[in-house]
Amino acid sequence: MGFRNAESEVRRRLGFVASPQFFVRFLPRAEIIFTMIHVQMRDVGYNLHMRRRAFTLVELLVVIGIIGVLIALLLPSLQRAKAQSKWIKCQSNLRQIGVAMMIYANDNRGVLFPPDYGGALVRTPLQQRWFIFVLKPRTPLNPASVDEHDWTPPILLCPADDPEPGLYHSYVVNDHLNEHGIKYSSKLASGVSPTEIIVLGEKITLINDYYIQTFPTGGSDFVEVVEKFRHGIHLGSNYLHLDLHVDNYAPKEARPGAVDPWDIAK
Ligand SMILES: [Zn+2]
Repeated sequence: MGFRNAESEVRRRLGFVASPQFFVRFLPRAEIIFTMIHVQMRDVGYNLHMRRRAFTLVELLVVIGIIGVLIALLLPSLQRAKAQSKWIKCQSNLRQIGVAMMIYANDNRGVLFPPDYGGALVRTPLQQRWFIFVLKPRTPLNPASVDEHDWTPPILLCPADDPEPGLYHSYVVNDHLNEHGIKYSSKLASGVSPTEIIVLGEKITLINDYYIQTFPTGGSDFVEVVEKFRHGIHLGSNYLHLDLHVDNYAPKEARPGAVDPWDIAK
């Protein structure tokens, strides 16, 4: 197509736009086109609107901050719940040991546990330690084993203690009972209640000992051995008492004539 032909074609089309036929043929379609344009623009507007609704950096930081505060509020109560569950598991251990001691006492004229055969200064062989007679754990596969892990039942581990405490146990018995011949359901001196007398308490993790006892030279190992705050400052430690109830009460002061707070002067 030459230049002139092209020019005449443009003129022809412009003539058509200006003609009444254009309006008759084009206007019904124009309505459709305008509707389409309107829909397109509405969508663009909607997208812009949505973009405005998305999080800004500040809003995101505020949300993260609020979540952080909520976690900080929740965490101490979670830790408290965990500590309390350990405390209750420890009390359950002591209660079960108390039942075993009562069964032992029924067979042994009221004596709750065997005395320390080795005495204060000598360690008895594993097969002769008190828990073997009271808790009657299964003999290890190697009966000649000299490893505490093989002989000690897990009930002697407080869940709040280190998983590997000294001699692989967490509790210490009050041998003052045997020293004074105090048995389960013994008649006690007036003013002394079996509720206040300790049978079993918690041991300081690193100490290798089973008994709280009077030294031949006087005094006792109470201060070095007894753990008073295994479960924290508020919960303290757990104790099995002579009436076989368990709680976290322990006498703070030694009674008159006694060597330590666990001692019972007759
Ligand atoms: Zn405990």
